[in-house]
Amino acid sequence: MGLAELVGLSRSYGADPEWVLAGGGNTSFKDENHLWIKASGTTLVTIEESGFVAMDRSRLQRIWSTTYPTEPAEREKAALTDLMDSRVDPGGRRPSVETLLHELFPFAYVVHTHPALINGMTCGAQGDAISRDLFGDSAVWIGQVEPGYVLAHTAREMLTEHRKKHGREAQIVFLANHGVVVAADHPEEVHELQKRVADLCRSQIESRIGRYPNMGEPSADPERQRRAETLLSEFRRRFPGRAVSYRCSEELLGYLRSEEHARPLLGTYTPDHVVYCGSMPQYVAPVRDGEFAVDVLLPALTRVENPSGSPQIILCENTGVFALAGTPRAMETAQALFADQVKIAFYSEAFGGHRFMEKRLVDFILSWEVERYRAVTSLKAE
Ligand SMILES: [Zn+2]
Repeated sequence: MGLAELVGLSRSYGADPEWVLAGGGNTSFKDENHLWIKASGTTLVTIEESGFVAMDRSRLQRIWSTTYPTEPAEREKAALTDLMDSRVDPGGRRPSVETLLHELFPFAYVVHTHPALINGMTCGAQGDAISRDLFGDSAVWIGQVEPGYVLAHTAREMLTEHRKKHGREAQIVFLANHGVVVAADHPEEVHELQKRVADLCRSQIESRIGRYPNMGEPSADPERQRRAETLLSEFRRRFPGRAVSYRCSEELLGYLRSEEHARPLLGTYTPDHVVYCGSMPQYVAPVRDGEFAVDVLLPALTRVENPSGSPQIILCENTGVFALAGTPRAMETAQALFADQVKIAFYSEAFGGHRFMEKRLVDFILSWEVERYRAVTSLKAE
């Protein structure tokens, strides 16, 4: 038991796009005195022992009894300083923003991921009630809260309440509009719990929807292809410094029949989507005969020119999705996360229909220095 097993566990989930995309997800191992957590911005699939940061658990636990400023930016700054000061090596790498969440579980291994399959439930309007039907008291549900310190603090209260009420520790925690955490003393048990969570979500999807999203290319349509190429060259001409790409899938086309059909895609589901896709996809309808006029595209294009240069997703009716970003890598990641958003929208139908992140939380992520650090670092890391 130890770091070597943690590396194996982390890579196995990191290698599976059903469980982990981009720099998302984090893992940890702890013994009595130390916790080894994924360094911020590290990618799970290629992680090595050096990709984990050793933390002093007694110093981490002091954070629970510290009183922080109420103003969010000051609170985050102070909590981050204490988190950094809890490192065994003060000059070491920056620990995951979710370190405190990992510290809470009295189990050796903790795996936290953001899979679309499970986020269909965490982003479902009735996700909370359905998770209780499916998992009973074996799982804890945490509503929408700011990630980082506030999430860890809320989780601590909920886990304590669960322990008092049921006389045992929770090993599965669902985070609304965010993801899932699973904890166990052996890697095998982590796998079993993960499988159970995925199987129950699948059974709900199969009974309520009866199929899975068709993310394959749609059947060829020369008109759609021509429109896509015209738009692509228009975006490239307008934004010569940005990477642009066009994608489409059978499932996406179903959503792009009209703005009404596209509603479940016109918002933000999880912090990952804010970080890697920009905060709000734009929907553009054609002006006449299925044609997009440049003057109609202009409002969407103008919004693309945001000073932070964050990625932008543009949905064009009956055509597909365009991603614009500062680098080819950021553009690819934006497309991958947007495909994830399509899956979440689809799966959420089995959980009472979609529910987006609250605007105040989107704004919090946008201004959160820690998340900016993560996006920049993980897109730089090869
Ligand atoms: Zn997370």
